Amino acid sequence: MGTYASFARQANLLDYNLAMQRILIIEDEAELVKVLRSYLEQAGFEVHSSYRGDTGLETWRSTHPDLVILDLNLPGMDGLDVARTIRRQDDTPIIMVTARVEETDRLIGLELGADDYISKPYSPREVVARVRTVLRRATGSVQRGTAIIRSAGFEINPENHSVIQNGTSFDLTPTEFQLLTALASAPGRVFSRLQLLEQTQDGSAYEGYERTIDAHIKNLRSKIEPDPKQPRYILTVFGVGYKFAGD
Ligand code: CA
Repeated sequence: MGTYASFARQANLLDYNLAMQRILIIEDEAELVKVLRSYLEQAGFEVHSSYRGDTGLETWRSTHPDLVILDLNLPGMDGLDVARTIRRQDDTPIIMVTARVEETDRLIGLELGADDYISKPYSPREVVARVRTVLRRATGSVQRGTAIIRSAGFEINPENHSVIQNGTSFDLTPTEFQLLTALASAPGRVFSRLQLLEQTQDGSAYEGYERTIDAHIKNLRSKIEPDPKQPRYILTVFGVGYKFAGD
């Protein structure tokens, strides 16, 4: 390891320290906490953790984290109650972690104000990416809809509405473009049809029901998927909605 590399690493650390953001993990699986902690710390976050819902809430009060990663099924106090209690007092961003996709459905229905949902098993790298996205959204440091999105080889540019993958450009309608942008900006996140409807700015999307989204997704798949019958990028989550597969 050369001197420059170690200098760069130190400079990087210094940079992170100036604005170190605090993450609280409330999760009863010790091994998961350990892995997540290590990834988040490597990404420059200060990490606190708790194995129980009730003590997690106490830690939330004492540490004032910038974001909470909250497991749904917890001893001491249920994750839903923890989320509700936090929401009553503060707008700390919350990423809910669920053990099953069916639970995501339930959570979306409850609309308890979580900022994002992740279902197990997840990749720690994905969690770090989602944490960054939610924090960016929360702090408003990136103007929505102007940053270029890169995922799964796609380059999506909201400024000129272009979508390119491996030198191939795709001709999308405004609604298809909005849908792809919404999905690809949060790979792995499950969007309900209603959420996707809200993301589309094309007025015509509002005249129908949530199922109009299915028609748009079908058209979008026919354009960007190598085999639209077996989608690789835009995946159906049965009973819930859609998600982007990412890298
Ligand atoms: Ca649990």
